[in-house]
Amino acid sequence: MVEGIITKGIGGFYYVKTENGTIECRARGLFREENLKPLIGDRVLIRINSEDNTGYIEEILPRKSQLLRPPVANVTQVIIVMSIKNPDINPWLMDRFIVMAEKEKLNILICINKVDLDYDKSQELINIYKGIGYDVIGTSTKENIGINELKEHLNNNISVFAGPSGVGKSSLLNAINKDFKLKTGDVSAKTKRGRHTTRHVELLELNKDSYVLDTPGFGSLNLDFIEDELELKEYFREIKKHGTDCKFSSCLHENEPECAVKKQVELGNISETRYSSYLDFLQEIRENRRY
Ligand code: GDP
Ligand code: ZN
Repeated sequence: MVEGIITKGIGGFYYVKTENGTIECRARGLFREENLKPLIGDRVLIRINSEDNTGYIEEILPRKSQLLRPPVANVTQVIIVMSIKNPDINPWLMDRFIVMAEKEKLNILICINKVDLDYDKSQELINIYKGIGYDVIGTSTKENIGINELKEHLNNNISVFAGPSGVGKSSLLNAINKDFKLKTGDVSAKTKRGRHTTRHVELLELNKDSYVLDTPGFGSLNLDFIEDELELKEYFREIKKHGTDCKFSSCLHENEPECAVKKQVELGNISETRYSSYLDFLQEIRENRRY
């Protein structure tokens, strides 16, 4: 049997990339009984029929991770892309993406794109998130800034790009590899196209062991996967860190006395926008729970 990775699935066929090229495969019927469905990103063992060079997926190797939206296995990294302008940077939305990626326990790389539109503001933002301990890069596809650094971060990973429409995700992928030829442009043009083309998810190969998904991660931005208010601070690194110094271990860092987090916000060691995202998400989790 030959090992490979599923890069695409269309109409019951799976396309498995192996050392001998890409083989069109069907899945063994038994998977259905086992309630197991091969996913894009799965490492599989296939049996190749030498007569017509098609294959059968015989075994799915253990998964390192599994995302629901989009449905893909073995993703190791999320690249959270935001533009500094056009559309305007939205720290609240950025923090939301970070919370989701933290929850999935994936490597996180923050990419501030379109730095050509406001270098100073980009640097300010980059410093805030670097200060928390995140990997952050500033990029511009227009001026070819940060593209090589982005490429390096993609090595030996299966990465998904996440971020709102129009921030430059497709442009960045095209800058990384000109063979990708993903559609770029303003939002209205894309929605028009989207209506007439059927979308399928595909892993694009950068080099051996490095892939990117051609579609944005995290289809929905609901925080309903967090059931307990106390869980939220796990996904804000700096709040988690300083929270160990609060008087109460159950401190939610709202109005409790002797709260180390509020203290650090006052001292300027925790950014006010990060703290306000935290309070806002906390409220949302409470409201979700009410239904
Ligand atoms: P996506 O929806 O996130 O995939 O965004 P696109 O890649 O389609 O880009 C949206 C628009 O932003 C396009 O008009 C791009 O030309 C433009 N754009 C992408 N990257 C940059 C950049 O670095 N600087 C500037 N000024 N515009 C960019
Ligand atoms: Zn506290």
